Amino acid sequence: MSGYFFNRAATATHDPLLARALVFENDGVRIALVSCDLTSMPEGIAAAARVWIEDLTGIPQHQVMISATHAHTAPVLLSGWSRYQLDGDMKQIATTYSQTLPALIAQSVAAAVKSLRPAKVFATIGQEATLPFNRRFHMRDGTVAWNPGKLNPDIVKPAGPIDPAVPVVYVEGEDGKAIAVYVNYAMHLDTIGGLEYSADYVYALSEALKLARGRQLVTVFTMGCSGNINHIDTTSKRPQKGHTEAARIGTILAAAVLRSIDEATPVNDTKLSGQSETIQLEAIKATPDEVAAATEARSKSTATLVLAKAARILENDSRSGRPYPAEIQILRIGKDLVWLGLPGEIFVELGLDIKQNARASFTIIATQTNAALGYIPNSKAYPEGTYEVISARVVSGSGEAIVKSALGLINSQSIP
Ligand SMILES: [Zn+2]
Repeated sequence: MSGYFFNRAATATHDPLLARALVFENDGVRIALVSCDLTSMPEGIAAAARVWIEDLTGIPQHQVMISATHAHTAPVLLSGWSRYQLDGDMKQIATTYSQTLPALIAQSVAAAVKSLRPAKVFATIGQEATLPFNRRFHMRDGTVAWNPGKLNPDIVKPAGPIDPAVPVVYVEGEDGKAIAVYVNYAMHLDTIGGLEYSADYVYALSEALKLARGRQLVTVFTMGCSGNINHIDTTSKRPQKGHTEAARIGTILAAAVLRSIDEATPVNDTKLSGQSETIQLEAIKATPDEVAAATEARSKSTATLVLAKAARILENDSRSGRPYPAEIQILRIGKDLVWLGLPGEIFVELGLDIKQNARASFTIIATQTNAALGYIPNSKAYPEGTYEVISARVVSGSGEAIVKSALGLINSQSIP
């Protein structure tokens, strides 16, 4: 299982891991949005899935957006450098699964294409401010700490904001029955832990929405810009790990979705389009001594911050310091409804910046999309350090470069 820095062998499946696909068609143009109950979406797997999807459905690759929800109770994927040192059965299982996955993802899109039917689309932005917390804190000693612990007396204040928005796209058939709902929220999916596969709070979200709108409803969830956001309330000592916590979160989020659907705006401008551009993000360099130290730390240490730093150094070294290509993708319905796909765990400040400056009524930012570049902090966070910054493979300014590219695409006058 993936999610942390040590090997875990799954013992069971609590709830099935799914690829959920939403396909829109208008005037012969199709776009596809896929969300997978996985920790990340490696570029090699997304690229292979897009080829399969084009073969099966004819949807061009730049009109397919494939995201991972970032669930931390999902299988390890082997594609490119891996932080996991697997051997024996674990390696065999992860290899086979990773090779099978692109075709499975494509099957979800093919199934959605098969069930295309006339529909109305509604968009809205709900609010739910009680669940997410910024997990970086200014501490009494002047440092910034990551997840400093419940009721920690040395916490002064959070080091950044949250984004309480719940963008929702609701799709209804001509019979008035719900077909699908696309939900996006800026909060980490890491509430469960343990050794059973699970979609994390997306499972409860999906079940609650089915109870309210019918078993046929497909919920497609993606994680918003939440590289520094999770569900842990440091002001309370209440335990927040396990399936009951995931159910609490999924249910409250479902309530926010249901409240907002009732006030949703019909999307009448229904021209479909997709565009993407790739920018290069500079990789942080390491000296040969740092690489040697990282190699040793990886085999000896169990400390998260040490392992995170070693992983960053060794992954960048495995690429000989080459920059990381970052695909910035948009799919849109008309001028006002835009999905932006970004390839990593983006800090909330960067997402808020995009939303505030996007000239579209509804901007949905799906992170962990089409590639897995890891944490993308904002420039302000780099000198503050700690976990996400230590983990980040790309230099300060990369996040702002992504914002600039995204706004360029979204605000471009020449909508194709
Ligand atoms: Zn994460």
